[in-house]
Amino acid sequence: MPGGTSRSVHQTQPHPIYARSGAGCVVTDVDGNRYLDFYNNASSLIHGHAHPGVVAAVEEQLRRGTAFSLPVESQIELARLLTDRIASVEQVRFVNSGSEAVMLAIQAARSITNRPRIAKFEGLYHGSADAVEVSLDPDPRAWGPPRHPSSVPYTRGTPEGVLDSVSILPLDDVPAMESILRAQAHELAAVLVDVIPMRLGMIPARPDWLAAVRQLTRELGILLISDEVVAFRLAHGGAQAWYDFDADLTVLGKIVGGGLPIGVVGGPLEMMRSFDDSGGRAAVPHAGTFNANPLTLAAGIAALSALPASEVQRINELGASLRRGADAVFQSAGLAAHATGLGSLFGIHMTERRFADYRGYWSACVADAGVRQRQRNLYDRLLQRGILLSTGGVGNVSTAVSEREIDAFLEALADSCREMQRDGDGDGTGPGT
Ligand code: PMP
Repeated sequence: MPGGTSRSVHQTQPHPIYARSGAGCVVTDVDGNRYLDFYNNASSLIHGHAHPGVVAAVEEQLRRGTAFSLPVESQIELARLLTDRIASVEQVRFVNSGSEAVMLAIQAARSITNRPRIAKFEGLYHGSADAVEVSLDPDPRAWGPPRHPSSVPYTRGTPEGVLDSVSILPLDDVPAMESILRAQAHELAAVLVDVIPMRLGMIPARPDWLAAVRQLTRELGILLISDEVVAFRLAHGGAQAWYDFDADLTVLGKIVGGGLPIGVVGGPLEMMRSFDDSGGRAAVPHAGTFNANPLTLAAGIAALSALPASEVQRINELGASLRRGADAVFQSAGLAAHATGLGSLFGIHMTERRFADYRGYWSACVADAGVRQRQRNLYDRLLQRGILLSTGGVGNVSTAVSEREIDAFLEALADSCREMQRDGDGDGTGPGT
């Protein structure tokens, strides 16, 4: 396998760390090292590892068969759990990944509006489809003017047709966004939003910015797709409940599959009708051998049933106390760093510079070699102390966590910061840097 794994984010140096098992918030690697897991497979394990209810449900389904060429009843149950929670979602279709769900939502939006283009915000991640990878990590030589970003390929050889089909919007700049949307409205099927983008270090959307996106898309007849693959966990009713807005199409993934592969497209009946082939060929025919996989459905039902609003609130409070605690650690250590995030999601950034969009993030965190080095150091030092985060410093709190693990995290963070300062790689000014 190139790089020794099947996923770029696993490529830590000098080699990927292979996991052997997990239970609750603890992961054990193949060498027997134990870690407190604050990444939880990129935020997909809301209850941590091997939750007993999820294990029992999957075991039970496993004995009855893993997949059929007929639908199973449990998809009705998971559909109901989701439509009960998200006000704008009356129907859903199940797929196997968030990426696939984004592709399907875009296809539906194009079909509903009969318009070919989509708009996405610069630097935001929506999975691995060609169109949404446009301008995922552009560098300044290619990214174009701030108020009119260029469509920049993510990988060489991306067809011009793909780049031409995507409009790139600057994040957090309402007038610039408005002028692009107004100029291109007649061609635009949808705008994709994510209220807490993981790739930009978990910076929460401003409510007034989101309200402007919603108002403009509605006025211009452009569909608003809320990508809640990560953000659904913010509230019992997902990101739309947290921010009080209604999307035209909603994309879900990660936690709603209980740890197994899943993607979901949902929306009001008038939107979801596109997929309905009961009266003949659907406007958007939708196949997929493993769609609504019975094992995933069983895991998803068990996971969501064990996630009442009170648990969402509990982990959100733990997330807030982790962020507050991290900022206090940085302040008392005199370290140029800060925490970001919302609810149970957080980011730790080894810079005092705040950012509200991709270009701000790029100059604060990517362009500065010192910040990059300190970020790597932090990851390594936390790992040595048994704390697992993403290499970029983002993480999340699962329901398997209590105050005790938050304290352990903050203690490891404080120790790491002290050590980084002692060794001179803390603030980029000490000896050895
Ligand atoms: N959208 C967002 C916001 C995501 O964070 C991700 C995955 N990290 C995806 C879509 C794609 O989901 P998947 O990895 O299941 O394809």
